[in-house]
Order: sequence, then C-alpha cells, then structure tokens
Amino acid sequence: MLPVDTIHEEEPAFVATPVLALFARFLPERTTLVLEAWHVDDAVAEITLHVTSTQACGLCPLCHIQTPRVHSRYTRTLADLPWGTYAVRLQLRVRKFFCDNPACPRQIFTERLPTVAAPWARRTLRLAQRLLACGLALGGQAGARLAGRCQWRPSPDTLLRLVRAAPTPPAPAPQVIGVDEWAWRRGQRYGTILVNLEDHCVLDVLPERSAAAVAAWLTQYPTIAVVCRDRSALYAEGIHQGAPQAVQVVDRFHLVKNLREAVEAFLHDQRAALQAAAALTAQALTVVAGPVSTPRMYRGRHQGSQAWQQRQEAAQQQRHAAWVTTYEAIHTLHAQGTPVTTMAQQLGISRPTVRAYLRRTQPPSPRSPQRSGQVLRPYMTYLIQRWREGCTDSMQLWREMRALGYAHSARTVSRFITRLRQASAAGWAPETQASPYTRPQGPSARAVSFTWVCPETKRAQDAQLYVDQLLQAHPVIAQAYTLSQAFLALVRERRGADLETWMMETSASGIAALARFAQGLQEDLPAITAGLTLPWSNGAVEGHVNRLKLLKRQSYGRAGGGLLRPRLMQAA
Ligand SMILES: [Zn+2]
Repeated sequence: MLPVDTIHEEEPAFVATPVLALFARFLPERTTLVLEAWHVDDAVAEITLHVTSTQACGLCPLCHIQTPRVHSRYTRTLADLPWGTYAVRLQLRVRKFFCDNPACPRQIFTERLPTVAAPWARRTLRLAQRLLACGLALGGQAGARLAGRCQWRPSPDTLLRLVRAAPTPPAPAPQVIGVDEWAWRRGQRYGTILVNLEDHCVLDVLPERSAAAVAAWLTQYPTIAVVCRDRSALYAEGIHQGAPQAVQVVDRFHLVKNLREAVEAFLHDQRAALQAAAALTAQALTVVAGPVSTPRMYRGRHQGSQAWQQRQEAAQQQRHAAWVTTYEAIHTLHAQGTPVTTMAQQLGISRPTVRAYLRRTQPPSPRSPQRSGQVLRPYMTYLIQRWREGCTDSMQLWREMRALGYAHSARTVSRFITRLRQASAAGWAPETQASPYTRPQGPSARAVSFTWVCPETKRAQDAQLYVDQLLQAHPVIAQAYTLSQAFLALVRERRGADLETWMMETSASGIAALARFAQGLQEDLPAITAGLTLPWSNGAVEGHVNRLKLLKRQSYGRAGGGLLRPRLMQAA
C-alpha cells in the first residue's frame, strides 16, 4: 500500500496549475504572446484576455530591417474563438517602432504579428479562417447562420467580404485541362470554366464565353499540352490562338450527345413507325408478363370529367401553336443567315433548342396530353402486383399506398386503375400501362433516341422490347441503328483510327440526319479523332459546372464572379 503522503504530493500539483498558465495554452500563439491578466464578465458571457507581445524587435514591413527602437504602445482588440458559451476578446498591447533605415520611406510602423492576426484585422487569424470556410462552403446568409451556431456571430456581409478577399490557392502549372461554358443566365449570357483534368481542381472561372478571353487565359500557361472542349468553333479558335502547342480533344460526351440529337431528328420523320412499334411492344410485353383475366367491373365511379379533358386539350393546342410559330420563325431567320446565338437571344430560348428546331425538316406534330403519371411512377409496380392479386378497388389501393407514403389524390390512382381495366379488357398485361413505350401514340422520338444511345445492358426490359420491335419492322430504322451503334462502339472502345471509314459509310447510307452528323465531324476531324483516341474527357468539368449552378442558386442569383470564382476554386 502506498503511503498517504505520496498521493498528496502529486495530486495538488495537478489541480493547482495556475489559471494563467492554463489559459495561456489556448492563446493563438504561445511563443510570441504572454497572458498578463484575464477578466470574466458573466453578464455578457465574455472573457477578456490581456496579452502582450514578447518580440524583441519590430520588422519594418517596407524594407524588412529589424529595429529595437520603440516609438509608442497601443492596444488592439481582437475577437478570438469562443470558449464554450463565452465570447473571447484579446486586449493586445503592441508597439510602434521607428524604422532606422535612412533609405526607407517609412519612419514609424506598427508591430506585426503575422501568426496571430492580419495587420488591421479585428479578429484573430484562426477565427477568420473558420469564418472563411463557412463563407466558402455556404455563402453569406447560410454561412452566417452556421457560424452563429458556433458562437462566432459574423454578419452575412462580413463572410462575403472574407470570401471576396480570399487569396487564390497556389496551383501547379496545368498540363491537361478541360474548358466548357456555363450559363450566367440560360440563353442570355454565358461564362467559361477551366478545370485541371489531372487533379480535377477548378483553375479559373471567366465571366465571358469568347475566343479572346480563352486565348488570353491560355497564354499564361505554356505548359498546357492537352485541352478538352466541346464542339464549338469558338473555343477551338481560342485554344488555337492561346495554346497553339496543345492537342485539342473533343469531349466524348458531346459527341454522343450530338449523335443522339441526329438520331432524334431522324426519328422525328418516323412517327408512324414509332407508333406502330408501341402496339407491338404492348403485345410482346403481354406475352412476357402474362395477361390477366378481366376483373369484375366496379360500378359507381365516374370517369374523369369532360371539362378537365377539354381544358387539357385546349392547353395542348396552345402549346402546339407556339411550337409551330417558333419553328417557322427560326427557319425564316436561318434562311436570312441569322446566327444561332442571335436567334436564341431574340426568341428567348436556348441555343440547343434553336439547333433542335433547325434539325427538323417539318414543324413538331401535336401530341396528346401527357398523362400525369409522375407521382404514381414509384408505386406502379405495387399497383400492378395488387391488380394481379385481384384487388381492383381504387379507394382500397389508395389507402394502401398512403400507408406506403403516397401523398397525392385518390383520383390519380383511380384514373390509373381505369387504364388497367381497359388494358385488361383489351387483353393486355397491366405492365403495359406502366411503360412509356406502349402508349397508344407511341413514345416520343426524343425518348427513343435516349434509349438508342444507352448501352443494351443498361436498358429496361420494356425499352429493349420496343427497340426490337422497331428494328424488326423497319429496315431503314435498323440500318440507322446499326450505324449509330457502330459509332458508339468507336467512342466506347476509343477506336479513333476507324472514324473516317465510319464517316464514309454513313455519308453514303442515304439516311439524311446521320449523314449530316457524319459530314459535320469532318470540320473538326483532328480534335474528334483525338477525343476517340486519348483517355481525357470533360466529366470533371461537367461536375464543376453542376457545382457552379448549385452555388449560383444558393446565392439566389445574386452571386457575381467575385463570389463564384473563390467559392469554386477553393474546396472549403
Ligand atoms: Zn523600413
């Protein structure tokens, strides 16, 4: 057993650490600051620490010569990180020094404490760094709310000021970069984003989308060897001017996107085939899924009201009339030689929309109103399973779905159940009603074009059945399909060497939309071949463009380049 005295010798030494020595450990800098006294004000929950500096000399900020000659002393008040619920204030006694260098224009200067606080700051460096992190991650308002929870209490404007003033982090000289546009305002004003494709960091955000701006930026970095871009001639020109040494690479995503658009244009003219394939798909799906005998009719529910249907049709007619007007306006302007950007601005629509209209050879056809199936979609499998089990009462099904989290009206459920009943009566499987590929009017050319470029292994069963039906019935569509799959294989397997063979074959195929796409590749052939050969792509750039959109919206559209740029470039 230990003698009682030994324990008592150690214990008091532990508890009786002088409070000043303890507090001093929490100072921002223990080598140059000395804690002289402290004071706690419980009424306002504030701790004041009186601190002096131990630096023997002052270092002139201009000539960087040390001097010991003190001019005067004064007190700086700095906010520091809080201790629990207590705000902490440093009363820092610092000196002014004479600069003894006769060649120096500065005669008197204040003592600098670069590890504690910036020269004129009202808060310590470590508090400022945390506030900056809040501002970078969340912006002004949300950042101030989070910081308030941490007892730091900055105003939103303070955070924004810190973000704007944040220094650009040093980055290694880039070698492989990606460039893409982003929208200040869609269809109106665009900017440019530049990303290092090796470490995926944002290199810069330019406020405009122009060849000159990109060229000027690129000339700063002669190290750049590869630039990945979209298919715009504007960036091609900018890169050619600013980085003539760099290999230009067209991003594969944009190539697949352009192919899909060509496919969509081709399918627009195949409306009848698209519609016919839908009925065949319904039959095929019924064979696969198995039909259901017509359930007993539940009487007492009325059909969807006439007035509602009429309103829907009127709205659809209005939409269709607007499409036709836009189609005619765009084709007239195009015939007059108006550039796409000007048309987009005049008509208040985006450039891709203008191009989509230009690819059409006839105005869009009217479409029957879309069924409001979106809210039901997550529950369709359940509804079909219950239908197969024999439950046909829409009110009962609605109650069951509410228990599963469905929050919409019983009428939507009842409308879908009516469709299931009609399908059963016609001898079709209920699964046909959950599929966009079996609608009587057929899926849209756009929807089919997306399925078309999607790898077979990733297609849904109904989508694959639909493509099978479509290709079996129409040799021209089958030929277009084979050609586009061959192009996708070039993209996926990076066989840039085989591109020209594919282009010749497609140009001679007689399928106008695809031939136009193939001939379009000719204009940018070296960059496209590089895109189909080299491993680089702009995925990281697209990711940052999405982040940029998020940041823009977080600031409710008020963030200018001064805020977006630092927030994008610095991972908080
Ligand atoms: Zn000096």
